[in-house]
Amino acid sequence: MRVRGRYAPSPTGLIHLGNALAALAAWLSARAQGGAFLWRLEDLDGPRVAPGMAEAAERDLAWLGLDWDEGGGRGGPHAPYRQSERAAFYEAALARLAAADRLFPCARSRKDLAGAASAPHGPGGAPYPARLRPADLPSGWYAALRPGAAALRFKVDAAPVHFTDRVFGRIAERVDRTVGDFVLRRRDGCYAYQLAVTVDDLAMGVTEVVRGADLLASTARQAQLIRALGAEPPAYAHVPLVLGPDGAKLSKRDNGLALGSLREAGARPEQVTGYLAWMLGLLEQPRACTPAELAPGFAWGRLRRANIQLAPGAADAVRRVP
Ligand code: GLU
Repeated sequence: MRVRGRYAPSPTGLIHLGNALAALAAWLSARAQGGAFLWRLEDLDGPRVAPGMAEAAERDLAWLGLDWDEGGGRGGPHAPYRQSERAAFYEAALARLAAADRLFPCARSRKDLAGAASAPHGPGGAPYPARLRPADLPSGWYAALRPGAAALRFKVDAAPVHFTDRVFGRIAERVDRTVGDFVLRRRDGCYAYQLAVTVDDLAMGVTEVVRGADLLASTARQAQLIRALGAEPPAYAHVPLVLGPDGAKLSKRDNGLALGSLREAGARPEQVTGYLAWMLGLLEQPRACTPAELAPGFAWGRLRRANIQLAPGAADAVRRVP
């Protein structure tokens, strides 16, 4: 089976060194294996979507030297490649899960359900207790559910989920103890990140998921959900996070480290790529190079696990890469 990798940005801000690190690793892994590379836009979290950011992300990563075969303005056999246009896929998956008795309606507080649409880049709260599952759901409850009446939660298994991450190794998680029954569709109708990412990776034939280490904590949930949908999970690899000089994950505050800002400040794409490759552990010292030059020597065993904290002046350091 041909390898299919993907990059799945949320268009909420400019692509910075942290996003680019994950995109480069995902691209290198797919291309080193002669695989296809897909671009999927994760734009479900309406209020956080910022105008123009989807186009800016494509422009910035193309500038770096990444290319993709499907999605991101190219279309392809699995169109649409924007999650906001894929509701029919999410509804079909929910109907399947309901038929398999893996769903239940939950009308608990909004606060409880807030944030389900975004990828959860951080520790969550207490697990949803299984005792709150409705004991006796009438058959036909799913078809009779009125819009806006309740959120839909996934009934998780009380058994460990096992998977092997190509960077972090073997992982076992009891999802019932870490998060419990998680939301797949919010009461307001918005699909949760966990549902959308799972359904799309399956539907698009993705064979490997490469992304930032903050999503390692979501992976057991996604693997369990994929199995509940009757498929096997893809391979997973989580790459280190890039932290600003303050120790926090890069964000809009760090716009000087956005690819567009580095470009405007005079950095060449080969310098940015060399700096990223060095951060990943692929180069001993930063040196200007292209993604295509790195692909033949790419191996997961060479990647570092530890998050990378940038020193003040990292933007200048990128422009000095020889
Ligand atoms: N859309 C997520 C993000 O931009 C990535 C989700 C994923 O790769 O599974 O952080």
